[in-house]
Amino acid sequence: MKKGGMMIITSPVEQLFTLFNETSLRLQEELGCSYLEALAETGENLFQGSVLQEELSEVTVKWLKKQYEGIYLERYTNEEIRKAFQLVILKGMKEMVQPNHQMTPDSVGMLMAYLVEKCIKEPSFRLLDPAVGTGNLLLTVLNHIDKKVAAAGVDIDDLLIKLAYINANLQEQPVQFFNQDSLEPLFIDPVDAVVADIPVGYYPNDIRAADYQLKAENGHSYAHHLFIEQSVRHTKPGGYLFFLIPNGLFESEQAGMLHRFIKEFLYIQGLLQLPVGMFKNKQAAKSILIVQKKGEGIKPPSQALLVNLPSLSNKREMDKILVNIDKWFKDNKG
Ligand code: SAM
Repeated sequence: MKKGGMMIITSPVEQLFTLFNETSLRLQEELGCSYLEALAETGENLFQGSVLQEELSEVTVKWLKKQYEGIYLERYTNEEIRKAFQLVILKGMKEMVQPNHQMTPDSVGMLMAYLVEKCIKEPSFRLLDPAVGTGNLLLTVLNHIDKKVAAAGVDIDDLLIKLAYINANLQEQPVQFFNQDSLEPLFIDPVDAVVADIPVGYYPNDIRAADYQLKAENGHSYAHHLFIEQSVRHTKPGGYLFFLIPNGLFESEQAGMLHRFIKEFLYIQGLLQLPVGMFKNKQAAKSILIVQKKGEGIKPPSQALLVNLPSLSNKREMDKILVNIDKWFKDNKG
């Protein structure tokens, strides 16, 4: 890029961010939609290699084509595309304030990818994210795993899942997406693993909740409990589930039921508490829970992996912890 006689070299992520951002702003203005809706439109255009919106002025169509022609997606890595897409979504999300729709940060995705890789030994496997949102968590995991993965994602929010689908398309990651309530019946074959940053709160549909063992005795049930049960139902015996959960999960007044459910169907493999500094406050802090579904020949670990993670940017402390985690996996998973 040339400016005032000076060469400015931009990073690949910046180049893509600029393209997504500028074309989204133009589409937002001309279509009168939100920034994130416009991002979905521009992403689809880029993927299809044409301008799909019929209501645009000729000047804008021409301008958009010129922007898209300047970018060769095949020259970018999946992670560069994902990171740029993530930054634009973060910008767009500042307009909406729904804590339950927040994207899962990179660091959590990378940690989950590492844990999935350690637990799953098969060269190919089936993976489900029942709260896929923008796809950031699922795609971070897919981009960091060196195995053949058949992945599926479900989300109730039609805009977020549209972004997820475009995110996956631009990265050429084959993912099956389902836009529906994940607590309704899912038409997905049993999977070997689940990753999910589950929504926390009450589930308003009491009739549907009645179908779950973890339904509340009175009033609305916890969506996060039902999500755990639904994920377990869709996992093969011996399969692994990786959930991002609120730290208080096992301390609520309904936790007794959850404890009984876990005892009946699952082995707790590990609980990794993320550094509080990653979250707005202590109440919002989360952990990664790893469980394995019981089944024939499946044994519990001699001891669960319990870790308090240091700040993920503290390399020295983090390396020390990773050595311990590695050792646990060697001792327990061969
Ligand atoms: N991992 C996602 C990402 O990286 O973008 C973020 C997940 S976000 C914390 C939780 C997601 O659960 C939201 O996208 C929300 O729309 C979805 N959700 C909430 N209730 C749901 C339901 N009943 N069925 C399906 N999805 C639901």
